[in-house]
Amino acid sequence: MTDPARAVLAGLNAIRSDLENLYQDLHRHPELGLREYRTAKKAADALREFGYDVTEGIGGTGVIGVLANGDGPVVMARADMDALPVREQTGLPYASTMTVTDEDGSEQPVMHACGHDVHVTSLIGCVQLMAQHLDAWRGTFVALFQPSEENGDGADAMVDDALTAKSPRPDVVLAQHVLPYPAGYVGTRPGSFLSAADSLRITVHGRGAHGAMPQAAVDPVVMAAMIVVRLQTIVSRELAATTPAVVTVGSIHAGTGPNVIPDSAVIQLNVRTYDDATRTQVLDAIERIVRAECEASRVPKDPEIERISSFPPTVNDEEPTRRVAEAFAAYFGDDAHTAELQTASEDMSEIPRAFGAPFTYWAIGGIDPERYAEAVRNGTVTQDIPVNHSPSFAPVIQPTLDTGVSALTVAVLAWLGS
Ligand code: ZN
Ligand code: ZN
Repeated sequence: MTDPARAVLAGLNAIRSDLENLYQDLHRHPELGLREYRTAKKAADALREFGYDVTEGIGGTGVIGVLANGDGPVVMARADMDALPVREQTGLPYASTMTVTDEDGSEQPVMHACGHDVHVTSLIGCVQLMAQHLDAWRGTFVALFQPSEENGDGADAMVDDALTAKSPRPDVVLAQHVLPYPAGYVGTRPGSFLSAADSLRITVHGRGAHGAMPQAAVDPVVMAAMIVVRLQTIVSRELAATTPAVVTVGSIHAGTGPNVIPDSAVIQLNVRTYDDATRTQVLDAIERIVRAECEASRVPKDPEIERISSFPPTVNDEEPTRRVAEAFAAYFGDDAHTAELQTASEDMSEIPRAFGAPFTYWAIGGIDPERYAEAVRNGTVTQDIPVNHSPSFAPVIQPTLDTGVSALTVAVLAWLGS
Protein backbone atom coordinates (compact mmCIF):
# COMPACT_ATOMS: atom_id res chain seq x y z
CA MET A 1 0.00 0.00 0.00
CA THR A 2 1.40 3.42 -0.91
CA ASP A 3 1.65 5.99 1.82
CA PRO A 4 -0.78 8.82 0.85
CA ALA A 5 1.59 11.52 2.17
CA ARG A 6 4.48 10.25 0.03
CA ALA A 7 2.18 9.93 -2.99
CA VAL A 8 0.89 13.51 -2.63
CA LEU A 9 4.29 15.02 -1.77
CA ALA A 10 5.85 13.42 -4.85
CA GLY A 11 4.26 16.44 -6.59
CA LEU A 12 6.39 18.91 -4.60
CA ASN A 13 9.35 18.78 -7.00
CA ALA A 14 7.21 20.16 -9.80
CA ILE A 15 5.93 23.18 -7.83
CA ARG A 16 9.00 23.98 -5.68
CA SER A 17 10.36 26.83 -7.79
CA ASP A 18 6.90 28.45 -8.14
CA LEU A 19 6.53 28.35 -4.35
CA GLU A 20 9.99 29.86 -3.85
CA ASN A 21 9.05 32.71 -6.21
CA LEU A 22 5.74 33.19 -4.41
CA TYR A 23 7.56 33.31 -1.07
CA GLN A 24 10.00 35.98 -2.26
CA ASP A 25 7.13 37.99 -3.71
CA LEU A 26 5.19 37.84 -0.41
CA HIS A 27 8.36 38.71 1.52
CA ARG A 28 8.88 41.81 -0.65
CA HIS A 29 5.26 42.89 -0.16
CA PRO A 30 4.42 42.56 3.56
CA GLU A 31 1.14 44.02 4.83
CA LEU A 32 0.09 44.96 8.36
CA GLY A 33 -2.85 43.33 10.17
CA LEU A 34 -6.30 43.72 8.61
CA ARG A 35 -4.69 45.34 5.55
CA GLU A 36 -3.53 42.08 3.92
CA TYR A 37 -5.38 42.87 0.68
CA ARG A 38 -2.66 41.76 -1.73
CA THR A 39 -1.75 38.65 0.26
CA ALA A 40 -5.40 37.64 0.66
CA LYS A 41 -5.95 38.06 -3.09
CA LYS A 42 -2.94 35.80 -3.84
CA ALA A 43 -4.41 33.17 -1.52
CA ALA A 44 -7.93 33.47 -2.99
CA ASP A 45 -6.58 33.34 -6.58
CA ALA A 46 -4.60 30.18 -5.80
CA LEU A 47 -7.63 28.55 -4.14
CA ARG A 48 -9.82 29.33 -7.17
CA GLU A 49 -7.16 28.14 -9.61
CA PHE A 50 -7.08 24.74 -7.89
CA GLY A 51 -10.86 24.32 -7.73
CA TYR A 52 -11.67 25.30 -4.13
CA ASP A 53 -14.95 26.99 -3.10
CA VAL A 54 -13.69 30.39 -1.99
CA THR A 55 -15.12 32.88 0.51
CA GLU A 56 -13.25 36.18 0.84
CA GLY A 57 -13.45 39.18 3.14
CA ILE A 58 -14.25 37.22 6.31
CA GLY A 59 -13.49 39.53 9.23
CA GLY A 60 -11.91 42.05 6.83
CA THR A 61 -9.30 40.17 4.80
CA GLY A 62 -9.77 36.55 5.92
CA VAL A 63 -10.17 33.88 3.22
CA ILE A 64 -11.29 30.27 3.26
CA GLY A 65 -11.21 27.68 0.50
CA VAL A 66 -13.13 24.40 0.72
CA LEU A 67 -12.30 21.29 -1.31
CA ALA A 68 -14.84 18.48 -0.85
CA ASN A 69 -13.63 15.09 -2.03
CA GLY A 70 -16.15 12.51 -0.91
CA ASP A 71 -17.14 11.17 2.48
CA GLY A 72 -14.65 11.55 5.31
CA PRO A 73 -13.46 13.90 8.02
CA VAL A 74 -13.24 17.68 7.65
CA VAL A 75 -9.73 19.05 8.27
CA MET A 76 -8.97 22.78 8.49
CA ALA A 77 -5.42 24.13 8.09
CA ARG A 78 -4.77 27.75 9.03
CA ALA A 79 -2.05 30.22 8.01
CA ASP A 80 -1.72 33.79 9.31
CA MET A 81 -0.96 36.51 6.74
CA ASP A 82 0.14 39.70 8.49
CA ALA A 83 3.53 41.37 8.86
CA LEU A 84 5.04 43.73 11.46
CA PRO A 85 6.01 47.42 11.69
CA VAL A 86 9.75 46.58 11.57
CA ARG A 87 12.44 47.99 9.24
CA GLU A 88 14.07 44.99 7.56
CA GLN A 89 17.84 44.64 8.02
CA THR A 90 18.43 41.17 6.59
CA GLY A 91 20.30 42.38 3.50
CA LEU A 92 18.43 39.73 1.47
CA PRO A 93 18.00 40.41 -2.26
CA TYR A 94 14.23 40.09 -1.70
CA ALA A 95 14.16 42.23 1.48
CA SER A 96 11.15 44.47 2.06
CA THR A 97 11.50 48.23 1.53
CA MET A 98 7.78 48.77 2.08
CA THR A 99 6.38 51.51 4.29
CA VAL A 100 2.83 52.48 5.14
CA THR A 101 1.43 55.82 6.22
CA ASP A 102 -0.36 55.70 9.54
CA GLU A 103 -3.59 57.53 10.38
CA ASP A 104 -1.51 60.25 12.06
CA GLY A 105 0.54 60.71 8.86
CA SER A 106 3.72 59.06 10.14
CA GLU A 107 5.56 56.54 7.98
CA GLN A 108 6.03 53.00 9.27
CA PRO A 109 8.31 50.33 7.83
CA VAL A 110 6.74 46.91 7.22
CA MET A 111 8.48 43.54 7.27
CA HIS A 112 7.58 39.86 7.40
CA ALA A 113 9.64 39.57 10.59
CA CYS A 114 7.57 36.69 12.00
CA GLY A 115 7.64 34.39 8.96
CA HIS A 116 3.91 34.51 8.16
CA ASP A 117 5.01 34.58 4.49
CA VAL A 118 6.40 31.06 5.11
CA HIS A 119 3.01 30.02 6.50
CA VAL A 120 1.03 31.44 3.56
CA THR A 121 3.38 29.90 0.98
CA SER A 122 3.33 26.51 2.75
CA LEU A 123 -0.46 26.44 2.88
CA ILE A 124 -0.76 27.43 -0.79
CA GLY A 125 1.66 24.58 -1.64
CA CYS A 126 -0.48 22.17 0.39
CA VAL A 127 -3.66 23.52 -1.28
CA GLN A 128 -2.18 22.81 -4.71
CA LEU A 129 -0.87 19.33 -3.88
CA MET A 130 -4.15 18.24 -2.27
CA ALA A 131 -6.06 19.37 -5.39
CA GLN A 132 -3.68 17.55 -7.74
CA HIS A 133 -3.88 14.21 -5.92
CA LEU A 134 -7.57 13.67 -5.21
CA ASP A 135 -7.05 9.93 -5.59
CA ALA A 136 -4.88 9.82 -2.44
CA TRP A 137 -7.46 11.12 0.03
CA ARG A 138 -11.15 11.31 1.04
CA GLY A 139 -13.03 13.96 2.99
CA THR A 140 -13.07 17.76 3.01
CA PHE A 141 -10.06 20.03 3.20
CA VAL A 142 -10.52 23.63 4.37
CA ALA A 143 -7.64 26.10 3.93
CA LEU A 144 -8.01 29.21 6.09
CA PHE A 145 -5.93 32.39 5.67
CA GLN A 146 -6.22 34.54 8.78
CA PRO A 147 -5.54 38.28 9.09
CA SER A 148 -3.96 40.19 11.96
CA GLU A 149 -2.42 37.55 14.21
CA GLU A 150 0.18 40.01 15.56
CA ASN A 151 -2.51 42.30 16.98
CA GLY A 152 -4.38 39.33 18.41
CA ASP A 153 -7.65 40.36 16.75
CA GLY A 154 -7.67 38.51 13.40
CA ALA A 155 -9.04 35.15 14.52
CA ASP A 156 -11.74 36.93 16.55
CA ALA A 157 -12.58 39.13 13.53
CA MET A 158 -13.21 36.01 11.41
CA VAL A 159 -15.25 34.35 14.15
CA ASP A 160 -17.31 37.53 14.69
CA ASP A 161 -17.99 37.62 10.94
CA ALA A 162 -19.86 34.28 11.05
CA LEU A 163 -16.90 32.04 10.17
CA THR A 164 -18.75 29.05 11.64
CA ALA A 165 -21.63 29.59 9.20
CA LYS A 166 -19.29 30.09 6.22
CA SER A 167 -17.13 26.99 6.68
CA PRO A 168 -17.99 23.33 7.27
CA ARG A 169 -17.32 22.39 10.89
CA PRO A 170 -13.81 20.90 11.08
CA ASP A 171 -13.09 17.68 12.99
CA VAL A 172 -9.64 19.10 13.68
CA VAL A 173 -7.82 22.41 13.09
CA LEU A 174 -4.10 22.44 12.25
CA ALA A 175 -1.56 25.29 12.18
CA GLN A 176 2.19 25.79 12.26
CA HIS A 177 4.76 28.52 12.98
CA VAL A 178 8.32 28.99 11.80
CA LEU A 179 10.60 29.51 14.81
CA PRO A 180 14.38 29.95 15.29
CA TYR A 181 15.26 26.24 15.09
CA PRO A 182 17.30 24.59 12.31
CA ALA A 183 15.42 24.42 9.02
CA GLY A 184 14.14 20.87 8.56
CA TYR A 185 13.10 20.63 12.23
CA VAL A 186 9.46 19.88 13.04
CA GLY A 187 8.32 19.99 16.69
CA THR A 188 5.01 18.95 18.23
CA ARG A 189 3.94 19.37 21.84
CA PRO A 190 0.87 17.97 23.60
CA GLY A 191 -0.79 20.29 26.12
CA SER A 192 0.55 23.79 26.89
CA PHE A 193 2.68 25.12 24.04
CA LEU A 194 2.35 28.94 23.81
CA SER A 195 1.59 31.35 26.61
CA ALA A 196 -1.45 33.53 27.07
CA ALA A 197 -0.46 37.19 26.78
CA ASP A 198 -2.40 40.03 28.38
CA SER A 199 -1.40 43.68 28.23
CA LEU A 200 -2.93 46.12 30.71
CA ARG A 201 -2.94 49.88 31.05
CA ILE A 202 -3.48 51.02 34.63
CA THR A 203 -4.17 54.64 35.53
CA VAL A 204 -3.92 55.56 39.20
CA HIS A 205 -5.35 58.88 40.34
CA GLY A 206 -3.88 60.99 43.11
CA ARG A 207 -4.12 64.69 43.89
CA GLY A 208 -1.61 67.09 42.36
CA ALA A 209 0.14 69.75 44.42
CA HIS A 210 3.35 71.80 44.81
CA GLY A 211 6.37 69.53 45.18
CA ALA A 212 7.17 71.30 48.44
CA MET A 213 3.72 70.64 49.92
CA PRO A 214 3.25 66.85 49.93
CA GLN A 215 0.70 67.18 52.73
CA ALA A 216 -1.68 68.67 50.15
CA ALA A 217 -1.12 65.85 47.68
CA VAL A 218 -1.92 62.20 47.13
CA ASP A 219 1.27 61.32 45.29
CA PRO A 220 0.64 58.97 42.32
CA VAL A 221 4.38 58.57 41.70
CA VAL A 222 4.92 56.90 45.08
CA MET A 223 1.74 54.90 44.59
CA ALA A 224 2.87 53.66 41.17
CA ALA A 225 6.30 52.75 42.59
CA MET A 226 4.68 50.71 45.38
CA ILE A 227 2.45 48.96 42.87
CA VAL A 228 5.41 48.03 40.63
CA VAL A 229 7.30 46.55 43.59
CA ARG A 230 4.29 44.72 45.00
CA LEU A 231 3.44 43.22 41.57
CA GLN A 232 6.77 41.37 41.72
CA THR A 233 5.36 39.23 44.54
CA ILE A 234 2.64 37.65 42.39
CA VAL A 235 4.96 35.25 40.56
CA SER A 236 7.48 34.92 43.40
CA ARG A 237 5.01 34.55 46.34
CA GLU A 238 1.57 33.59 45.02
CA LEU A 239 2.42 30.95 42.37
CA ALA A 240 4.05 27.57 42.90
CA ALA A 241 7.68 27.40 41.81
CA THR A 242 6.63 24.87 39.15
CA THR A 243 4.03 27.20 37.58
CA PRO A 244 5.63 29.38 34.90
CA ALA A 245 4.39 32.99 34.54
CA VAL A 246 5.79 36.43 33.76
CA VAL A 247 4.61 39.85 34.98
CA THR A 248 6.58 42.66 33.35
CA VAL A 249 5.94 46.37 33.84
CA GLY A 250 7.23 47.73 30.55
CA SER A 251 6.16 51.35 30.84
CA ILE A 252 5.55 53.86 33.64
CA HIS A 253 4.72 57.52 33.09
CA ALA A 254 3.88 60.36 35.46
CA GLY A 255 4.62 64.04 35.94
CA THR A 256 6.26 66.80 33.95
CA GLY A 257 8.79 68.46 36.25
CA PRO A 258 10.77 68.06 39.49
CA ASN A 259 8.74 70.35 41.74
CA VAL A 260 5.19 69.37 40.80
CA ILE A 261 3.37 66.36 42.21
CA PRO A 262 1.20 65.15 39.31
CA ASP A 263 -2.37 64.00 39.69
CA SER A 264 -2.06 60.64 37.93
CA ALA A 265 0.37 57.94 36.82
CA VAL A 266 0.03 55.35 34.04
CA ILE A 267 1.56 51.88 34.25
CA GLN A 268 1.57 49.48 31.30
CA LEU A 269 2.32 45.84 31.88
CA ASN A 270 2.39 42.48 30.16
CA VAL A 271 1.42 39.10 31.64
CA ARG A 272 2.35 35.64 30.30
CA THR A 273 0.71 32.49 31.64
CA TYR A 274 0.17 28.96 30.30
CA ASP A 275 -3.32 27.94 31.39
CA ASP A 276 -6.65 29.61 32.08
CA ALA A 277 -6.57 29.05 35.85
CA THR A 278 -3.15 30.71 36.30
CA ARG A 279 -4.13 33.47 33.92
CA THR A 280 -7.23 34.31 35.97
CA GLN A 281 -5.27 34.05 39.23
CA VAL A 282 -2.54 36.47 38.06
CA LEU A 283 -4.94 39.00 36.52
CA ASP A 284 -7.08 38.94 39.68
CA ALA A 285 -3.96 39.45 41.83
CA ILE A 286 -2.91 42.47 39.77
CA GLU A 287 -6.31 44.08 40.20
CA ARG A 288 -6.36 43.31 43.96
CA ILE A 289 -2.88 44.82 44.48
CA VAL A 290 -3.60 47.95 42.43
CA ARG A 291 -6.88 48.62 44.25
CA ALA A 292 -5.33 47.93 47.68
CA GLU A 293 -2.33 50.22 47.05
CA CYS A 294 -4.68 52.96 45.88
CA GLU A 295 -6.78 52.56 49.01
CA ALA A 296 -3.62 52.55 51.16
CA SER A 297 -2.75 55.93 49.61
CA ARG A 298 -6.32 57.28 50.26
CA VAL A 299 -6.96 58.12 46.58
CA PRO A 300 -9.74 60.54 45.66
CA LYS A 301 -10.77 58.37 42.68
CA ASP A 302 -10.64 54.66 41.84
CA PRO A 303 -7.96 53.40 39.42
CA GLU A 304 -8.78 52.43 35.83
CA ILE A 305 -7.57 49.03 34.63
CA GLU A 306 -7.92 48.48 30.87
CA ARG A 307 -7.05 45.36 28.86
CA ILE A 308 -5.10 46.66 25.82
CA SER A 309 -4.64 43.31 24.12
CA SER A 310 -5.09 39.69 24.99
CA PHE A 311 -4.09 36.33 23.50
CA PRO A 312 -5.43 33.03 24.83
CA PRO A 313 -3.02 30.27 25.90
CA THR A 314 -2.34 27.75 23.12
CA VAL A 315 -2.97 24.35 24.71
CA ASN A 316 -2.74 21.54 22.15
CA ASP A 317 -5.32 18.76 22.38
CA GLU A 318 -3.69 15.40 23.19
CA GLU A 319 -5.26 13.10 20.57
CA PRO A 320 -4.63 15.18 17.42
CA THR A 321 -1.14 16.09 18.67
CA ARG A 322 -0.28 12.42 19.14
CA ARG A 323 -1.63 11.61 15.68
CA VAL A 324 0.43 14.38 14.04
CA ALA A 325 3.55 13.45 16.05
CA GLU A 326 3.28 9.84 14.82
CA ALA A 327 2.80 10.97 11.21
CA PHE A 328 5.78 13.35 11.51
CA ALA A 329 7.99 10.62 13.02
CA ALA A 330 7.10 8.33 10.10
CA TYR A 331 7.75 11.00 7.47
CA PHE A 332 10.55 13.19 8.93
CA GLY A 333 12.39 10.58 11.02
CA ASP A 334 15.08 12.18 13.22
CA ASP A 335 13.94 15.70 12.27
CA ALA A 336 10.68 15.16 14.21
CA HIS A 337 11.02 16.45 17.78
CA THR A 338 9.07 17.34 20.88
CA ALA A 339 8.95 21.16 20.88
CA GLU A 340 9.89 23.26 23.92
CA LEU A 341 7.37 25.41 25.78
CA GLN A 342 7.35 28.89 24.15
CA THR A 343 6.80 32.31 25.73
CA ALA A 344 5.31 33.67 22.48
CA SER A 345 1.53 33.87 22.00
CA GLU A 346 -1.06 33.21 19.30
CA ASP A 347 -4.74 33.87 18.66
CA MET A 348 -5.16 30.79 16.44
CA SER A 349 -6.99 28.75 19.11
CA GLU A 350 -9.99 31.13 18.89
CA ILE A 351 -10.86 29.44 15.56
CA PRO A 352 -11.16 25.83 16.81
CA ARG A 353 -12.80 27.16 19.99
CA ALA A 354 -15.55 28.79 17.88
CA PHE A 355 -16.27 25.45 16.16
CA GLY A 356 -15.89 23.40 19.34
CA ALA A 357 -13.15 21.48 17.50
CA PRO A 358 -9.83 20.11 18.81
CA PHE A 359 -6.58 21.47 17.40
CA THR A 360 -2.85 21.05 17.27
CA TYR A 361 -0.22 23.65 16.46
CA TRP A 362 3.42 22.81 15.80
CA ALA A 363 6.77 24.49 15.14
CA ILE A 364 9.01 24.27 12.08
CA GLY A 365 12.60 25.51 11.94
CA GLY A 366 13.80 28.29 9.63
CA ILE A 367 17.50 28.79 10.41
CA ASP A 368 20.32 27.56 8.16
CA PRO A 369 21.19 24.25 9.88
CA GLU A 370 24.98 24.79 9.58
CA ARG A 371 24.76 28.26 11.03
CA TYR A 372 22.61 26.92 13.86
CA ALA A 373 25.00 24.03 14.59
CA GLU A 374 27.94 26.45 14.71
CA ALA A 375 26.11 28.71 17.18
CA VAL A 376 25.36 25.65 19.34
CA ARG A 377 29.06 24.66 19.26
CA ASN A 378 30.06 28.20 20.28
CA GLY A 379 27.34 28.51 22.91
CA THR A 380 26.06 31.64 21.13
CA VAL A 381 22.57 30.65 19.95
CA THR A 382 20.87 33.53 21.79
CA GLN A 383 23.33 36.12 20.40
CA ASP A 384 23.84 34.80 16.85
CA ILE A 385 20.45 33.45 15.80
CA PRO A 386 17.91 36.21 15.09
CA VAL A 387 14.52 35.40 16.58
CA ASN A 388 11.02 36.22 15.31
CA HIS A 389 10.27 39.98 15.25
CA SER A 390 13.97 40.83 14.88
CA PRO A 391 14.83 43.07 11.87
CA SER A 392 17.38 40.35 10.98
CA PHE A 393 14.92 37.41 11.10
CA ALA A 394 15.55 35.66 7.79
CA PRO A 395 14.39 32.06 7.36
CA VAL A 396 16.43 30.25 4.70
CA ILE A 397 14.14 29.45 1.77
CA GLN A 398 15.09 25.76 1.77
CA PRO A 399 14.56 23.42 3.41
CA THR A 400 12.13 25.74 5.28
CA LEU A 401 9.45 25.85 2.56
CA ASP A 402 9.73 22.15 1.74
CA THR A 403 9.30 21.42 5.45
CA GLY A 404 6.35 23.79 5.79
CA VAL A 405 4.49 22.29 2.82
CA SER A 406 5.36 18.72 3.83
CA ALA A 407 4.42 19.14 7.50
CA LEU A 408 0.99 20.56 6.63
CA THR A 409 0.33 17.91 4.01
CA VAL A 410 1.50 15.02 6.20
CA ALA A 411 -0.67 16.30 9.07
CA VAL A 412 -3.77 16.88 6.90
CA LEU A 413 -3.43 13.39 5.42
CA ALA A 414 -3.16 11.86 8.91
CA TRP A 415 -6.96 12.40 8.84
CA LEU A 416 -7.82 12.44 5.15
CA GLY A 417 -5.34 9.93 3.70
CA SER A 418 -7.03 6.84 2.31
ZN1 ZN B 1 4.86 37.38 15.56
ZN1 ZN C 1 3.94 34.90 14.08
